[in-house]
Amino acid sequence: MPVQRTLSIVKPDAVEKNVIGDIIRRFEENSLSIIGAKMVHLSAAEAGRFYAVHAQRPFYKDLCAFMSSGPVLAMALEGKNAVTLNRQLMGATNPKEADAGTIRADHAASIDANAVHGSDSEENAAIEIGFFFPDLELHSKA
Ligand code: ADP
Ligand code: MG
Repeated sequence: MPVQRTLSIVKPDAVEKNVIGDIIRRFEENSLSIIGAKMVHLSAAEAGRFYAVHAQRPFYKDLCAFMSSGPVLAMALEGKNAVTLNRQLMGATNPKEADAGTIRADHAASIDANAVHGSDSEENAAIEIGFFFPDLELHSKA
């Protein structure tokens, strides 16, 4: 399996709930290394740029409002099969459909406030990591 990078965001609801540590523990216990991390409070416009791919979706405005409602922790993760592994650890977008033991099953309250973001492909991971991190702030172990 290839070593990949992916972007994780601990969303405002999970930051507010004090579960950053629990989420990071799951990554580290599953051989994903944090090679970049920063806490930021996005403006609605910045959240809109990050989620531009969803601009035509009915939930876009609410999504941007939610993602700019408080600070988030953005992390670049690195490890074997990182994109898919992170998505497995996250669970389904709608926490009602998320497998038991996933981050969203344990910490998400709704499809809006669903605790974490994770890149959905290696291509998007590169774009999303670049949104938050210049190369100088990434510390690869690979
Ligand atoms: P994921 O975060 O699992 O990759 P998507 O990329 O489809 O999911 O959507 C981005 C985010 O937009 C979701 O995490 C969720 O917070 C929100 N979202 C997605 N679908 C809906 C929906 N039907 N209603 C409200 N919010 C949604
Ligand atoms: Mg997505």
